[in-house]
Amino acid sequence: MRIAVLSSEAVPYSKTGGLADVAGALPKALTRTGADAFLITPCYLQTKGEYLWHTAFDDLWLEWSGRPYRAKAFYSEANGSPTFLIDAPEFFHRDSIYGYREDYERFAFFNHAALTLLKRLDKKIDIVHLNDWHCGFAAVKLAHLRFWDPFWSNTRTVFSIHNLAYQGGFGSGELWDLGFGSRFEQDHFAFEGYASAMKAGLSASDMLSTVSPTYGVEIQQHENGYGLDWLLRARSGRLSGITNGVDYEVWNPETDPVLAANFSWKDLSGKRTCKRDLLERFSLPVELESPVFGIVSRLTSQKGIELIQQAAGEIVNVGGFLTVLGSGDRQYEDFFQRLRDAAPDRVGFFRGYNEELAHTIEAGADIFLMPSRFEPCGLNQMYSLRYGTVPIVRAVGGLHDTIHNFDRVTGQGNGYKFTDFIAGQFVEKIYEAVFAYNEPETWRRIQMNGMTEDHSWENAARKYLALYEHTLRL
Ligand code: ADP
Repeated sequence: MRIAVLSSEAVPYSKTGGLADVAGALPKALTRTGADAFLITPCYLQTKGEYLWHTAFDDLWLEWSGRPYRAKAFYSEANGSPTFLIDAPEFFHRDSIYGYREDYERFAFFNHAALTLLKRLDKKIDIVHLNDWHCGFAAVKLAHLRFWDPFWSNTRTVFSIHNLAYQGGFGSGELWDLGFGSRFEQDHFAFEGYASAMKAGLSASDMLSTVSPTYGVEIQQHENGYGLDWLLRARSGRLSGITNGVDYEVWNPETDPVLAANFSWKDLSGKRTCKRDLLERFSLPVELESPVFGIVSRLTSQKGIELIQQAAGEIVNVGGFLTVLGSGDRQYEDFFQRLRDAAPDRVGFFRGYNEELAHTIEAGADIFLMPSRFEPCGLNQMYSLRYGTVPIVRAVGGLHDTIHNFDRVTGQGNGYKFTDFIAGQFVEKIYEAVFAYNEPETWRRIQMNGMTEDHSWENAARKYLALYEHTLRL
């Protein structure tokens, strides 16, 4: 089976969030199962030159806005699977990956270039796996092309929803310029008076998936559907949930090169060294018996920062430290900065994006906080499990699927979770976790339960392969 995965970001070429982790790891895991899988992603200003192995095409001609346009494509296997990186500086050489008024145009171009590249490769593709709104354009194009271009007649599309909150909306009048002139195509985009690339993907793809089973159910409900729940309910027979995996080549405390000391579930002594390192990096007093809470997150309202704002005082009251890495909304960045200024010997804050520090926090913290409002899958809670850092999460989406309350009677469970978006429930779980932390044997049991779980991509890749096979039989 030949599978082309399209994504707007992919590790190690580019990353703003979990989508990049998934898009980098899935093609690699598929390749390992014996599938012929490859990745297509843009080449950004941020993409390191060392990853661009050679030029695959320097004359990728396509028609854009009525004119011929010459793009290039680099080739790499830096993520462990064949990758083509679309090079078009006009669209992708910017200071950041997203955040421009014309993002819809940039990613429509990416989709168009990716399909042109697939055709140039001249090998029949069974599945084009599209990810989030940035790839909704290709879903519509392929639904259209397959009727009159024999090259595409047997190609099927799978569209994965990583975050329904981002929809890629723009004025319907732009569709002509983007190459979607037919009524058939425009109908797929039509949404509440404008065009939505997310709706296009959901409407035109052969199969839909979400990054966890619970999120797949939640987005069919009115309050979580962002106006698209009706479409998801209508297509629920084509919608399934596959929980993301973890790339244990990148997130493994036994081999992680960033850590002050490596450790495993068999010998946790290195974790203490990592804790010391973390406290020192944030210039906090090295009190190794006090619980360290960690947060690594985009600072947006999705991540439940309001609950952290309300609970921060309790974390200090229970004698804990709070170490935070993140960037995003100004109000949240300012909050953590003020908190750190008010309690510099209990709180550490690094504003920004920093891969190394993310690993340092995962390894050095005792407790990881993710009280999200909604969470399609969430990766940090699964990284935390492997690093012996006990997660406290809200029971939504993938957090609900992967974290199970520790039960003192049975000894089962890998963390703590609460249900309602209420600070009182969150604080209760903080107390419960700190109580267990102060009983070394109990704590070690919770750590063991999490560290020995297997959330590897192999498992998820097998489920995707089954989904692709099912899609081809439709
Ligand atoms: P989302 O995709 O909604 O941001 P996920 O938990 O699925 O959330 O994935 C987040 C990914 O981004 C993780 O790999 C996490 O370590 C990383 N990350 C988030 N914020 C930062 C940051 N400030 N610095 C480094 N890595 C970050």
